[in-house]
Amino acid sequence: MPYVYDPMNIFARILRGEIPNKTLLDTPHSLAFHDIRPQAPVHVLVIPKGPYVNFDHFSADASDAEIVDFTRAVGEVCRLTATCPGDGDGGYRLISNAGDAGVQEVPHLHVHVLGGRVLGWMVQRFE
Ligand code: 5GP
Repeated sequence: MPYVYDPMNIFARILRGEIPNKTLLDTPHSLAFHDIRPQAPVHVLVIPKGPYVNFDHFSADASDAEIVDFTRAVGEVCRLTATCPGDGDGGYRLISNAGDAGVQEVPHLHVHVLGGRVLGWMVQRFE
């Protein structure tokens, strides 16, 4: 099934400069900015600048240069926010929600970088 990208999604609008954001990192192929509704002391979103709806779309269709840039951008955000293991009480969680089951709100690939507190269980326990 082909991936369908909605160019009016909120992150596409941020990339076009139509909506302000608090940028942490800007690279040739990626942008990192603070989440508008933070769920932890550190809550940064890292997005590719290209039109990819989710991680499996990105991994299938992005160029090697985009994939390398994005991967390095996520790591750089971990370092910039001092959430890497080894930085004092550091530690972090990376989340990328996709589709209905993943409860994805914005249909443009993003990785949440969360940290700054003990984050608890990864997901609600399922019995
Ligand atoms: P999702 O549920 O799609 O994984 O997460 C989308 C995230 O985008 C949410 O954490 C939400 O708070 C964030 N978000 C939605 N609209 C905006 C916005 O206009 N600016 C910023 N910085 N974050 C947004």
